[in-house]
Amino acid sequence: MRSILCVLGVLLGFHSAFALDRLAFTFTDYDLKIKITPATQSIEVQGKLTLRNDTAQPQRNPVLQISSALEWNSITIGGKPAQYLAETYTTDIDHSGGLSEAVITLLQPVPPQGTVEIELSYGGQIPQDVTRLTRIGVPAERAARSDWDQISDSFTAVRGIGYVAWYPVATEAASLSEGNQIFESVMAWKERQSGSRMRLSFCWPGEAQLVANGQSAAATGTQPGCQASQYDPIGMAVPTFVIGSYRALNQPPMTIQYVAGHESYARVWATAGEKVAPFIVQWFGQRKRPVHVVELPDKDMYPYEGGGVFFTPLVSGEEKDIQVVLAHQLAHASFQSPRLWMDEGLAHFAQALVREQQDGRAAALAYMDERLPLLQEAERQFLPGASGKTSALPPVGQSLINATDEVFFRTKAMFVWWMLRDMVGDDALERAIRAYRPDLDKEASYFQRLLAAQYHRDLEWFFDDWVYRDRGLPEFHITEVYPRKLIPADWSVTVAVENSGSAGAEVPVAVRSAQGEERKRLEVRAHEKASVRIPIPVTPQQAVVNDGSVPASDMGNNSAEIPTAETAK
Ligand SMILES: [Zn+2]
Repeated sequence: MRSILCVLGVLLGFHSAFALDRLAFTFTDYDLKIKITPATQSIEVQGKLTLRNDTAQPQRNPVLQISSALEWNSITIGGKPAQYLAETYTTDIDHSGGLSEAVITLLQPVPPQGTVEIELSYGGQIPQDVTRLTRIGVPAERAARSDWDQISDSFTAVRGIGYVAWYPVATEAASLSEGNQIFESVMAWKERQSGSRMRLSFCWPGEAQLVANGQSAAATGTQPGCQASQYDPIGMAVPTFVIGSYRALNQPPMTIQYVAGHESYARVWATAGEKVAPFIVQWFGQRKRPVHVVELPDKDMYPYEGGGVFFTPLVSGEEKDIQVVLAHQLAHASFQSPRLWMDEGLAHFAQALVREQQDGRAAALAYMDERLPLLQEAERQFLPGASGKTSALPPVGQSLINATDEVFFRTKAMFVWWMLRDMVGDDALERAIRAYRPDLDKEASYFQRLLAAQYHRDLEWFFDDWVYRDRGLPEFHITEVYPRKLIPADWSVTVAVENSGSAGAEVPVAVRSAQGEERKRLEVRAHEKASVRIPIPVTPQQAVVNDGSVPASDMGNNSAEIPTAETAK
């Protein structure tokens, strides 16, 4: 029996004889020499990798993956050719929709926590490639706006894991049509490699500049030729390189790398950043790094943020809109958290705050409201009576504290920060944000405790409904309105509100008249009713619950006319 299994194992090869563990090794050290030739769209890489076995078993099959457009030239260990099998591995983690995967068979297994050093050489071309998007039905033109990575004479910018595997990685196949697989796979890779070191040396011909971004600092070369760039550790950055004839504008807190001829646009961005910066510092604390902007040459390319660098077209935009865009980057420069709902959520909240600074609360609420429909869609499974199975969307219930879906850690988080701010006030929230230390954030309740130190009211129910669990959105409607005429001309209106959703909230209630409105805030817990009495000095006409600051599943059924005719005696 044993010998039959052995023979079978040999016949079928290690692929099918036992499961290949692509995630067994952590890539702890990269030492790569990279030659870029834009004229031929090519990249040639030579170097060394150190891999550590992070499993509890000995391992003999390290896996190295690079973009499917690239080819392995050689893999050696200790100067001797390694035995490996190279095949194309279908996955959407690379823009080409596949990886060139080399499965190595070591002569000696690597023990747990042991390391192996591998010398390698690979290369090929990196043209723009939209395969992974067009094969799931995205029109090519739109796909090209987001998958803009390429090496070419006109534009050379290549992002790493999640876009182009221009340095070796090891991942399990992930598909764009499987919900959040790509994002989760990239996050898992980044977290595992965050303590690793990457030493790169880029060489390229001609009069061009290299911008290679790491976690802490951007290395910017002014000399054509070769340039070293080191990431130690890589952190959560996606190693990215850009080569072009960039000019630099340094105007604190901004550094802007712009395409020749676009200085006037760069100045508009620098001025917008300068204007909005003090307000962001007041909310989120002193900047820990400058804001580094690199221009994308085509105005239709989608911006990208990563590793402390913001890639964006500079050509279009009003100064007000640019301020709102830069508020996000300035908030990142001041505030960092390993928790996405804080890191990204607060950056989006900063944008709404700037919108309010510019044109008032209604403008900020309108800005947030534009982003609401996707959140309502994602939370649809929580609607009363919803089965959760009829939705075309995957069941994405996610607590904010662990959210990996962007609509949660960006849009829902933005609303949650706004609601907290409405509840506790600017001062308490600003103080809690400034007291935040990412290295001390070890428990889910850490920020709630920081806030409790500034604001002495029970917020447990709120964090429970919105942050620690996903309970969907509230759903308010006015159940009753009682107007009472007082002496001499004053009125008092009692408004009863029911929340038929599973998340409670403190919501503004307004009583409107021809002259204006009076408002109060009302806490309405999930599946409960509450009422509030609002005095108003003129004849009231209408009661309204929720000004748009609380994301609800239906924003359209929130008002009631006030029947003053019968009661006005
Ligand atoms: Zn961001």
